[in-house]
Amino acid sequence: MSNCNLCASEQNISDFLVDPVPNQAEVSLCEKCLGAVNSQDYSDIHHWHCLSEAIWHENSAVKVLSYSILNNLRSEPWAQDLMEQIYFEPQELEWAKTRVERLSPDEGVSPTFDSNGARLLEGDSVTLIKDLDVKGGGFTAKRGTLVKNIRLTNNPEHIDGKVNGVQIVLVTKYLKKV
Ligand SMILES: [Zn+2]
Repeated sequence: MSNCNLCASEQNISDFLVDPVPNQAEVSLCEKCLGAVNSQDYSDIHHWHCLSEAIWHENSAVKVLSYSILNNLRSEPWAQDLMEQIYFEPQELEWAKTRVERLSPDEGVSPTFDSNGARLLEGDSVTLIKDLDVKGGGFTAKRGTLVKNIRLTNNPEHIDGKVNGVQIVLVTKYLKKV
């Protein structure tokens, strides 16, 4: 059994893909941390003091994820302190900044909607409303296929998701939010 990479909890650990590119980096998160990261709701501020440990993790993805969580909490002086303490290699810093920019709600990026006009958010689950040929994947993603834990892209017509274990770009007009 592994522990949550952020708060060291042992409750309901699952893998979380911090960013599909360029790193394919997965971290282990407990139910509580995963829920917060998916909804980007970090209002349980006390919980996130755990990041004072997580920012020293050997896995870059844990540091990058911690950085992006702290960025949401940066009105708290201790969170700002921790952000300054994180030691990043140049490429890790680049990654962390890219992630923060991508998740930032006010970058002028249009919201993403499914085929019914429901707003899609990071971590949502969707189903396919038609069969889709996966270019380069050599398979067809069947209508009704469930895609969990989607990632938004800079293009409101595209999301990233995993189908048959393959990370692919999906066109939002063929998706329905679950
Ligand atoms: Zn946790």
